[in-house]
Amino acid sequence: MIDLRSDTVTVPTAEMLEKMFSAKVGDNVLGHDPTVRELELKAAEMFGMEDALFCPSGTMTNQIALNVHTVPGNEVICHKHAHIYNYEGGGAAFNSGLQIRTAGDDYGKITASEIEPLINGYGDVHAAPTGLISMENTSNKGGGTCMDLEELKRIGQLAAENGIPYHLDGARLFNALVAKGESPKDYGAIFDNISICLSKGLGCPVGSLLLGSSDFIIAANRVRKRFGGGMRQAGYLAAAGIYALDHHIERLADDHSNAKLLEAALSKHPAVKSIKPVETNIVIFELKEGYDAQQWMATLADNGIQIIAMSKTLLRMVTHLNVSLDDIEKIIHQIQGID
Ligand SMILES: *Cc1c(COP(=O)(O)O)cnc(C)c1O
Repeated sequence: MIDLRSDTVTVPTAEMLEKMFSAKVGDNVLGHDPTVRELELKAAEMFGMEDALFCPSGTMTNQIALNVHTVPGNEVICHKHAHIYNYEGGGAAFNSGLQIRTAGDDYGKITASEIEPLINGYGDVHAAPTGLISMENTSNKGGGTCMDLEELKRIGQLAAENGIPYHLDGARLFNALVAKGESPKDYGAIFDNISICLSKGLGCPVGSLLLGSSDFIIAANRVRKRFGGGMRQAGYLAAAGIYALDHHIERLADDHSNAKLLEAALSKHPAVKSIKPVETNIVIFELKEGYDAQQWMATLADNGIQIIAMSKTLLRMVTHLNVSLDDIEKIIHQIQGID
């Protein structure tokens, strides 16, 4: 099977597994596991931020950030496609008593001028005070699109002027950095905290990192424990993260060029109505009236290719570490055969 459902399906390479097997570990709840600590400090250094916290998932890193920065009854401003709003099981409300205010276009982009009128202070008793502004880069539901760094700076300025913390869900931030030739420090300088996933394009089996100031990480560590995310000999997992940060970032460019090949093939297919512009490793496309996404999914599955239907007409393919150029050629061949 060639699995294009997500970049979360990757399995560790032999080299990564070797690093995991030989990791030095300790009890990371009682004290520090040396390998977890190495990963946290390595990531903090890369982003020019003070500290980091290793967590089981990107949902948890996001949920911790929401929890630390807000009080119940606050409102969080984010894009209408944001993971924190659409795909975290109502966690913002359940864990932290928050409501969400959304804006933005159909491609995961949002501007400072859209956000400005949405900010609520404490003055008006009718309004829920804005507790956090959260961005997502790349945008998953937007089609793997990259936010503009200058716009992110403008939004950051707006947040700072209003005394509102500024979070980045950077589950696939490294895809954006590679695609746009930007550096982690560009982002570390703008955001109060950043969540990055090691288990997506970077190819680790498990794990996400939450980056921020030392004080923020002390508070985040308490919330991680409360959410049940304190992991003991997690160094075995952190070792995979260290390996990925050293070896799996630049290669994301291959995933991006593979996604472009899929985009080009789909754009010539008579059943395809539109494709969200491909900037990184996600290809979201819409079928014309009379075609059925489930049917496409089933036909491809019969031919050894797994993809995901996002609605009756929308389909998603994600390229990653375990999809080769040979695989891409096979996929294109199969797509051309569907009628
Ligand atoms: C995958 C993802 C997450 C976190 O997902 P987990 O499966 O909980 O690690 C967060 N944000 C975005 C944009 C994602 O795509």
